[in-house]
Amino acid sequence: MMTQTGEDGALVFFKAQHRAFLDAIKGKRDIIPALMSLACSSFDGNVEIQAQGQPDIACHKGCATCCTIRVVATAPEVLMAARYIRHTKPAFAKQHIDLLQRLNEADTATRNLAELERVALRRRCPFISQGVCVIYPVRPLACRGHASHNKKACVDAAASRLDSIPFSMPHMMVRSLVQNAMQSALRNSGLAWAVYELNHALVIALSDECSESDWVAGSDVFADARIADIDPNEMASVFDSISAA
Ligand code: SF4
Repeated sequence: MMTQTGEDGALVFFKAQHRAFLDAIKGKRDIIPALMSLACSSFDGNVEIQAQGQPDIACHKGCATCCTIRVVATAPEVLMAARYIRHTKPAFAKQHIDLLQRLNEADTATRNLAELERVALRRRCPFISQGVCVIYPVRPLACRGHASHNKKACVDAAASRLDSIPFSMPHMMVRSLVQNAMQSALRNSGLAWAVYELNHALVIALSDECSESDWVAGSDVFADARIADIDPNEMASVFDSISAA
């Protein structure tokens, strides 16, 4: 748990998380759920501590105002969501919800759009149904870390009437630390560690049964969906300097 505050606290937390992710990769036969269980429990537990004394979060079930943003995710997050979609597809089909069709249509409309173009498009995430996220248990860390203190500000921003939203800093900080520590551990373990655009990466994952085993074997199966505005060399050098600190 992140018990210290400030830069030192963040550094200690990052290093502890990095070691925990390395252990999860080494010690488990099925590393996808092992990594995601660790990432989500760490995010939830630490956000609860860091957000103490902060204003309440306005996000609630049924509010999908912000679910038009570009969602980015690491390979374990994509692969966990792909497992969930494969597993729940028959149940959703009975409710006349075709998750794969929704995903493919969204990907066709949004592939390769930059973050601002994506917001301007105002296209809803394909996983929203009747205002609810249907992949909620496996939603990426990016969605978990996107928490607002003011619903009206979210509504106004979605309608282009406002530029900024009062996001919860503890949610953003903990998401970033947990995700980056996982990426750093993946990198040190010889696994593809980039972040990818969720819809495009999911289309790849769901169209190839071998995507998970290939990724576990070290292949960057989602390379085509990699987010271009993040420089991997810069991130790698930050990870190396943290390890050396
Ligand atoms: S995955 Fe779920 S929480 Fe994330 S943007 Fe889509 S609907 Fe919203």
